[in-house]
Parts: sequence; structure tokens; C-alpha cells
Amino acid sequence: MTSDFDRLADAILAGSPATPDDALAVLRAADAELLHVVAAAGRLRRAHFGNTVKVNYLVNLKSGLCPENCNYCSQALGSSAPILKYSWLSQDAALDQAAAGLHGGACRVCLVASGRGPSDRDVDKVADLAGALKRQHPDVEVCACLGLLKDDQAQRLKDAGVDAYNHNINTAESHHAEIVQTHTYADRVDTVQRAKDAGLSPCSGLIAGLGETDEQLVEALFALRELDSDSIPVNFLIPFDGTPFQHTWDLTPTRCLLVLAMARFVCPDREIRIAGGRELHLRSVQSIALHLANSIFLGDYLTSEGQEAERDLELIRDGGFVVLGSEQDLAQRAEPAIRRRGAGTDVLPNA
Ligand code: SF4
Repeated sequence: MTSDFDRLADAILAGSPATPDDALAVLRAADAELLHVVAAAGRLRRAHFGNTVKVNYLVNLKSGLCPENCNYCSQALGSSAPILKYSWLSQDAALDQAAAGLHGGACRVCLVASGRGPSDRDVDKVADLAGALKRQHPDVEVCACLGLLKDDQAQRLKDAGVDAYNHNINTAESHHAEIVQTHTYADRVDTVQRAKDAGLSPCSGLIAGLGETDEQLVEALFALRELDSDSIPVNFLIPFDGTPFQHTWDLTPTRCLLVLAMARFVCPDREIRIAGGRELHLRSVQSIALHLANSIFLGDYLTSEGQEAERDLELIRDGGFVVLGSEQDLAQRAEPAIRRRGAGTDVLPNA
């Protein structure tokens, strides 16, 4: 039986982009339709990315101590979340961190620093680091995420060999003032535009679960399509204690799948990356999510821990996907563990 979502996928593959109404219908699909949605969006994913998963690795160069007040952020002004706080890592320490991620299978390293935006000295520091990273690992893709850019900062990063720049719009323009007051939505769009104008690959995404309406999630996705973001990180709110969103939990695993599916229908040929909150919110359906998204972060996030990096790779392999750019032999077998607990033993059962 052909579902409405299959017909939508056919139309998109034939060159008719999804409309906001289509996106809303995906977001509001009934539980019984979930697998139809996944199957249809999965066709778009495979048409553009086959069975590859891009693996990215975050290096938090500077953590916490931010003067901005993004309500969702554990590093924000006023946040009392007990996160690691430190000023710039040394170049050697940053290179060591990046090497660990690359060794684990990542092909893109994201160099991130908290703050409203970089000073020119900060840009020099990141430019030097990017150059050193490229000399050590010529094939690495480097993405910088340093906040709002001004003047010729994007160009200087580009000239130093940085490939991409991340700056998320985070939410719909109509919801932005509810979640941050120290900068505007237009400021964020301006930085994405500057990155693009300098020839950096624009990476901009959103956070679901910020109290936005369905229509606002759709609005944010269409804004990202309009911005022509090459990669779209989809975050699911991590409600850190000590932040204004600490008691906000609007997401379920199925809702998260529908958000990712909507992103795929709206931006079928863009890198859709499952970002922060993957383990917390998708939980046991992470593997289904890979049929929608084609990119993940390996290991830990900026201020919270992810699952073991090896489990991330297992997730990819077990779903029949391959790490983009990896030649590794994916055949793996696990040895059965002989039961030594529960019935017939003096040891407590596994229940
Ligand atoms: S500008 Fe970045 S680091 Fe600072 S509070 Fe906002 S999201 Fe967090």
C-alpha cells in the first residue's frame, strides 16, 4: 500500500519541494503511521547519501563563561549548571583531542568556543590551530563555531583552511526572543550569511523542545532551507539543571523521529545531523533515526557526555550503515556470554 508519505517522497524526488503543510503533516503523523513516515523519508536519505553516515567530532576549545543569555545553554550567563569551565585549550591539547576523534572514525572536527563572538586574536588562534590540524591530518574537514562573526573574520578562517562554519539559528524567528535577549535572530542569520559569502560551507541547525509550536518548528526548517545551510544539526533540548529550561521535557522518542523525518522531507539533500540530546531523547530508537539522518557526533558533546564512542560506531554498523570515508572492515561478531547468574546459581538474576 502506498502511503501519503510515499507519495510525498515521490513528488520530492521528482523535483517538487515539500510545502509547510506537508511538513506539518509529517510532524503530526499518528503513531500508527510512524514507520510509513520513516520508510518514505528514508528513501530520500538513501537517494542522496546511500548508506553512509558522516561522523563528526567536537572539540570544546573554551567552555562556559559566556556573556550571552541563551536560555537553553549550560554555558550561558546566569546558568548555574555544574559544567566544566575553562579558557582556551592550548594548541597541543586541542590537537590531541582532535586526533582522538579522528582515530575514532570522525572525518570532520568541529572547533567550538563559547562566547558572543571571537576577537581578532581568537580568530588568529583558531586559524593557526586549523592550519596545524590540516598539516597533521590532510584529509580532515575543519568546522569552526565561534559565535557571531564580524568584518573579515569569516574570510580569515577560510584563508587558513577552515572548511565550514557552524552557527545555529536554533529556533524560529517568531520564537527567538523567548529564548535569548542578548542578540537577535537577525544577528544569527547575518553570521551564517557572512560564512557563506566567504566560501565557508554553512552549517546551521535548530533545537527542538524549546517550547516552540509545530508551526514554529516548520518555520525554522524552512528558514534553514532558505539560508541554504549545507549541514543541519538537529538538537533535542538537554534540560540542564541550573538553566531556565531545567524542567522542560516536551520530547518523546517518536516526536524526535518525526522532527528528523520532517527535516529530511524539507531538506532532502542536506546533511541532517543528529546532534545534542541524541541519547537522552531518542534512546532505544537511535538506530531508526539513522534511516532519516546521515550524520552524527561521535562520543561527547560540548558540556555533556554522550554514549561510548564505540557504541556510536556499533549503532552505525548494526543498522547496515557505513562510516563515510572509512575503509574499515565492518564485519564484527560478539561472543555469547555464558549465563552465570540467576536460576541454578547463588547470584542474583539479571532482572
Ligand atoms: S552564545 Fe553560544 S555559548 Fe553563549 S550562551 Fe549562547 S549558545 Fe551558549
